[in-house]
Amino acid sequence: MRGVRGGQARRPADRDGGRAIVCVGIDLAGVEHRETGVAILRDGRLARLTSAGTDDEVLALATQAGPGSTVAINAPLTRPLGRCCLDDDCPCRHDPGTRSRQLERELARMGVPTLATALLKVLARRGARVAAALRDRGFEPLEVYPFATLRLLGLPCQGKRTSRGRRRIYRAVRALVPGLRHPRASEHQLDAVVCALTARLWREGRTRAVGLPEEGLMIIPDVPRASHEIG
Ligand SMILES: [Zn+2]
Repeated sequence: MRGVRGGQARRPADRDGGRAIVCVGIDLAGVEHRETGVAILRDGRLARLTSAGTDDEVLALATQAGPGSTVAINAPLTRPLGRCCLDDDCPCRHDPGTRSRQLERELARMGVPTLATALLKVLARRGARVAAALRDRGFEPLEVYPFATLRLLGLPCQGKRTSRGRRRIYRAVRALVPGLRHPRASEHQLDAVVCALTARLWREGRTRAVGLPEEGLMIIPDVPRASHEIG
């Protein structure tokens, strides 16, 4: 909870020129027939929690949130530098060094494990596709990682696949997200809420980026280093 409710937290910018600040969190599935969680925060309060399937459904939900809203996606949105694709048999692949991005290596050094982009091919291809479609519609999507957000905020982040683990995460996130009254939320919906919360922190200037601008950045909570290096 440190960094979110701590005394040093910057004053939240609840309003932006009188318009509500809308943040959309998307826990993107690799394929359209699996559940994609979608959460929409309006001025920090959960306004919608749902699931989507196809790209069109995902894009429709983001578009409904309106221009000026911030969209945060849990999926790799870019490829490692120098890769033209993520195909294993393409000459753009050289090992080692072309499987992961700088942001994944930085997270690993911070004690936040991730999978290398090249191990998430299917999801990364969809992430790039959805991100491009969002840019065409005037959004600039952020790449986020709910596990990293929870971990860096010092919140429970393990065991989301069990109902017990999910309940622990749910209770912790509920304390930060007014309007979250969905004890039966799926793991993907819960991840989507954390994505939207990360976008909200970004709007408040309480995040930082890891990775290389020319390769791809991930937005994570800006917390004092000690809070995630201990334990
Ligand atoms: Zn290639």
